[in-house]
Formats: sequence, structure tokens, C-alpha cells
Amino acid sequence: MTNTASEPLFDTVAFIGMGLIGSSLARRILRDGLAKKITCAVRSEATRDRVLELGIADAAYCDIKEAVKDADLVMICAPVGANEAIGAQLAGNLKKGAIVSDVGSVKQAVIRDIAPHLDEGVSFVPGHPLAGTEHSGPDSGFPELFEGRWCILTPIPGEKESATARVQALWEACGMKVECMDADHHDRILGITSHLPHLIAYTIVGTATDLEDALRQEVIKFSASGFRDFTRIAASDPTMWRDVFLNNREAVLEVLGRFQEDLMALQRAIRWGEGEKLFDLFSRTREIRRGIVDAGQYFTNFSAEGEDRQSDAKGKNKTDK
Ligand code: NAP
Repeated sequence: MTNTASEPLFDTVAFIGMGLIGSSLARRILRDGLAKKITCAVRSEATRDRVLELGIADAAYCDIKEAVKDADLVMICAPVGANEAIGAQLAGNLKKGAIVSDVGSVKQAVIRDIAPHLDEGVSFVPGHPLAGTEHSGPDSGFPELFEGRWCILTPIPGEKESATARVQALWEACGMKVECMDADHHDRILGITSHLPHLIAYTIVGTATDLEDALRQEVIKFSASGFRDFTRIAASDPTMWRDVFLNNREAVLEVLGRFQEDLMALQRAIRWGEGEKLFDLFSRTREIRRGIVDAGQYFTNFSAEGEDRQSDAKGKNKTDK
């Protein structure tokens, strides 16, 4: 592997999972020389062979122990439902002083499933880069994915600050802005900003799918930008999202209850012709949208004509996850 730009931050980084997120980070590390060596463990031989073909790891295995044994940093990039089994395979197999981190979209469940397996002398720094697309697998990654986006770290109290600082430095080198918070706080925020919108998208597209055949064909044919944007979100990886909902159950159920109440209030306003209520809400939400654009967090959307307004060099749409 050639060190092209920066000083390496780690000697060996081992990935567990080389899909969209793992392969994007590996590509960035490779491009900017952020580590001397990359190894990885994946589940299937097909993915292992593809990773080697793509040249995004120096060594790839279907055996976690083999991949992590010499690693300074182990980055877990598999669906969060796999963590309990992954944690069990890390136990007793890491170098003293190694750091374990992850990219999972929920944080309390990740800590619950990984931390108990880690030996004395191994640090754990849970993290979540808020960047993604609806694509999966090692071919879908690209090194610019994280550029300008937020990464949330949820350090465990009592853990070495130096380990958090090293993981933070890696994400910053990938172009991210980093913020630390409690895992519980993370799960509540992401429940509203990411998990609920995905649930709504899955529901809307599911409802359209269940329509009688003739109507469904017309929904697809005349699909306007609103519905089209939902279909993009609802095309996200089913395994990943199943695991997110099952592992952030309480926060999602709480926000869903609140959402259902607000939806009922809107239903009532429409029924009783309360135009002012609708107008007030739509004006407030318009301001939120402007705030997001002003904060520089607008990266992807489709114009009414279906043109991709802002995408990366490879034409892939970035979304917050
Ligand atoms: P992905 O593209 O589907 O890739 C998943 C990778 O994990 C594949 O290499 C897969 O290997 C491996 N894997 C799957 N099940 C496994 C298991 N039981 N044990 C070991 N490895 C396993 O997924 P992704 O989108 O990169 O998501 C990975 C993580 O990032 C998830 O925890 C997700 O919550 C988080 N995340 C995702 C996004 C997003 O937008 N996608 C954004 C931020 C964070 P095989 O190919 O061999 O099956």
C-alpha cells in the first residue's frame, strides 16, 4: 500500500465488514496514507474475493481472529445485529493497547454487545459517521463519502481519552467534524433525525406497493419528486435497517408515539378546514429546512425534474444515516 499524502495514524487497521461504510473508510485510508496496512474480515468468500480484486485491503479473511490479531485499530463495520457474535470473537484475540471502534447507527446496543468481550488493555471508542447512501457492498464505497459531515463518538466513561483522540483524528483526517455525546443521547437524536424518517419511507412505499395493480403502476409512472425521494430512502439495506429498529427500540417507539399524535392533529386540522394551523406548521418546517441548508448539511436531494442537484465526484448521492 502506498502512503500518498499524510503521516499514517495507525500501523494496521482491521475492518470487520467491508460494505459501503467499511470500504469507503478503507478507500480514504488508502488514498491518504492514514495507515500502513489494512486487513479485513467479511462473512462470505464472494465479498472477500471482491475486496482483494478491488485492492482495498492488503489481506482479507472470512475469519475475524485472523484479521484482527495484529491490528492497532479494529473498526467494526457490519450490521449492528452481528455485534454480539463479533464481540465474542474479539475476546482474547487482540493486541494489548489495541483500540476497537465501530460505525453502527445505534450506540447503546453496540456498547452492550461489544464492551463485555474486550480484554483489559483494549480500548473501546464507539462511533457513528453520519454519512451514507442507499447502496451496499464493497463496490459502493468511495473515499469522499465522509467529507464535511458529522461523526458522533460516544466515549465510555473511564475509557482512555487518548484512544478517543486517536479515533477522532482518523475521522477528522477523512474530512469529518467530530462531536462527543452520551450513547443514550445519540440514540434519541438519531431516532428522530434518521430512524423515524426511514420508517416513514418504508411505510409509504409499502402502502404504494399494496395498492391494487393498476393504481400501483400509475404511482410508479407518475411518481413525483416527493414519492421518488421516499423510494430512494426505502431502498436502503434491509438487514441494516432491521437491526437498527430492533436495537433502538425504545427511542424509536417513543418518537413514533409523538409522531402519531402530531399526525392525528394534522388529520383533524384537514378535516375541520383549519387552514391557519396547516399554514403555521408548514411555515415553521420551511424554516427548519432553511436552517439545514444554512448549516451546510444539505448534500442530497432531487429537484422537481429529477436531477441530482449535488452529488460527489462519482455521482453518488450522500445522505445522513
Ligand atoms: P453493507 O454495505 O451491507 O456491508 C456490511 C458488511 O458487513 C459486509 O462486508 C458483510 O459481509 C459484513 N457482514 C454482514 N453480516 C456480518 C456478520 N454477521 N458478521 C461479520 N460480517 C458481516 O453495510 P453498511 O451500509 O456498510 O453498514 C455497516 C454499518 O454501518 C452498520 O452497522 C450501519 O448501521 C452503519 N452505518 C451505515 C450507514 C449507511 O448509510 N449505510 C451510515 C452510517 C452507519 P458480506 O458481504 O460477506 O456479507
